[in-house]
Amino acid sequence: MTTQQILEKLVSFPVLGGDSNLEIINWIKQYTESFGIKTFLVYNSDNTKASLHCRIGPAINGGTILSGHTDVVPVKNQPWYTNPFKLVEKPDGNLYARGSCDMKGFLACCLSALPKMVKANLKKPIYFAFSYDEEIGCLAAEALINHIKATYSETPKFAIIGEATMLQPIIGQKSIHILDITVNGSEGHSSRIKQEVSAIHEAAKIVLWAEEKMNTLVKTSNDARFNPPHTSLHVGTINGGIAANIIANKVTLSLDIRCLPKDNPNILYQDLIHFCRERENTQRAIFSDFKIDVEENHPIVPAFSTNENAEAVNLIGEITGNYNWNTVSYASEAGYFANAGFEAIICGPGSIKQAHRANEFISKDQLHKGAQMIETLVSYLETSA
Ligand SMILES: [Zn+2]
Repeated sequence: MTTQQILEKLVSFPVLGGDSNLEIINWIKQYTESFGIKTFLVYNSDNTKASLHCRIGPAINGGTILSGHTDVVPVKNQPWYTNPFKLVEKPDGNLYARGSCDMKGFLACCLSALPKMVKANLKKPIYFAFSYDEEIGCLAAEALINHIKATYSETPKFAIIGEATMLQPIIGQKSIHILDITVNGSEGHSSRIKQEVSAIHEAAKIVLWAEEKMNTLVKTSNDARFNPPHTSLHVGTINGGIAANIIANKVTLSLDIRCLPKDNPNILYQDLIHFCRERENTQRAIFSDFKIDVEENHPIVPAFSTNENAEAVNLIGEITGNYNWNTVSYASEAGYFANAGFEAIICGPGSIKQAHRANEFISKDQLHKGAQMIETLVSYLETSA
C-alpha cells in the first residue's frame, strides 16, 4: 500500500480522543504483523482502548522510537466542506480529512516504510509506539512507555514524536496543566457583602494570584528559546453570579498553566492549593462551608528540553536536512519520552496550522517528504548507526 492509501484507511476510523480505538489499532496490528513483525498491545483498564508497540530490527541498544497517536479531535460544530472521515484529494495538491495532518499522516509514513524496514539490514532497531487519548491530555503515553521498557531487554535511545512541524525539529515544549476551579461562597443581599462570602470576589483573588505569580516568574525565570520566554498562567473562562444585588454563591473558572522546562508545574500547583486553603481558613470565620475545589482537567503534560547539541538533533538533521530547531508551547507526548530517558524530538509532516480545524489537510508534498524522512532513517540505520 502507498502512503496515501494507508492514510486513506487510517482516516476512515473516526476515533476521537476518549473513544475506543480498537478498530484502528487492530488494523495497524494486522498490517504490521503481515510483514512478520510481532506487536504488543497495551490495553486500558476496561480493554476498550489500546496502544501498540513493536520492534523492527535487531535487539541492540540505541534504537529509534517512532511515536504517534491514533485519536483525533472532534469535528462537531465545525464547517467541513467534505466528509471529515474520508480522504479527499483536491486539485490544490492537498489531502483533506480529520487527522490527515494531526497525526495519521505520520503514522501512514511509518507504516508505508515498514516493508523497506523489514528488508533492510538495520544496525539499530526502529520501534513503533502508537497511542490513544493523546488529544485529551496524553493519557496513554506513560503506560505505553513503561510497557516498552518492560518488554525489550535492549534500550532505545531516540524518540521521534511525529506531530506536524513541517518536518522541522522541535527540541523543547512547555508543560501544560489545566485546572477547573469551583468557588463555593454564600448567597445573600448585596448589602451584606461583609457578612457573606462572595464567590466572585474570591474567584477574582485567584485570578490576581495567577497574574502575580506569572509576573514574578517573568522577572525571575526566562528561556529565550521559547516564545513567550516565560511560564504563562491564564484564566480562560469564568462563570457565576445572577445580579448586581445578589452575592454570588458559586463561580467556576478554568486556569491554563504552561511552564518552561526549568519551572516546576507541581510547585505552582501546590502553591495554588496552598493559597486556596488559606482563603478557606480565613473566610470560614464568616461562612463555615466556604470551599474552593481545584480539579485537574488532566494530569500535567510534562515539558521537555533536548539539548541543541544532542545526538537526536543531529539524527533529525541527517534524515530531513533540517538542523534548524525550534520550540513549541502545545501539548505532545514528547515530555513523557524525555522523562523516561529517551532523547526526544518532535518532527513530522504537515503544518500545525491545519491541525484541530475544519477542513484539516496535509499537502501531498509534505506527506511525500514525511515518507522520505522515514525511508532515509532506514537507510541511515543500515549504514552509519
Ligand atoms: Zn497530535
